[in-house]
Amino acid sequence: MGVSFLAKLILSGALKLDEGRINLKNQLDFLLTPALFATQITKYFISQGKEDILYLISWINGYISNYKIKMLFNLDTPEKMYRIGMDFGESMGIGLYKTHDYHPGRYTHFVIRTNPIAELYGKSDRPIDYIIAGGMAGGGCLVHNDICQNVEIRCKSCSSDVCEFLTGTPRELKSRNLWKEVQVRYNLKEILPIQKYLYEEYNPQEEQRILQYVFEELSKLE
Ligand SMILES: [Zn+2]
Repeated sequence: MGVSFLAKLILSGALKLDEGRINLKNQLDFLLTPALFATQITKYFISQGKEDILYLISWINGYISNYKIKMLFNLDTPEKMYRIGMDFGESMGIGLYKTHDYHPGRYTHFVIRTNPIAELYGKSDRPIDYIIAGGMAGGGCLVHNDICQNVEIRCKSCSSDVCEFLTGTPRELKSRNLWKEVQVRYNLKEILPIQKYLYEEYNPQEEQRILQYVFEELSKLE
């Protein structure tokens, strides 16, 4: 599915691949991040006890990318937004996913069977996919129209056969008794004000000003 989606974009000229970057309709640039690089970044942040920052950076990236995709392709329903967001995730090399369950306005529940980041990472006593969790939560805000968070429930690094994730609105996560876990795992007291600011203020015309503020706030957390 991810491949045909990419092929369609390339054939239509909307997407160009250029020296490690994906350029979409000449308006949106993605950096192709090799899994090895993502794994090393993950190891570094975990060794520093700054997993919450890694999650937040990925959340910001997921939110802004999906915001722009939504505008570029005029994705006017949660279903369209969700499909293209998941296809992009797969095309970016996250691996194959299979959605268990999806409910607009509430949650997205999915598993990743082939995850090079977790496979390269090696053994861990807790889930390590902060990059995927953050990106999916940030992107999920555009599907569920709320400030979403994501919990990795099972991880291949913890001897599970798949990585399993749940993106949800605060209300949904509370109803599943996952809110406490989110608060602790991502230091939510510190990062939520930044997420809230971006969610409420972001628009591409003022990106520079908004991101400058976001990164000033981010540097205070480090
Ligand atoms: Zn994992």
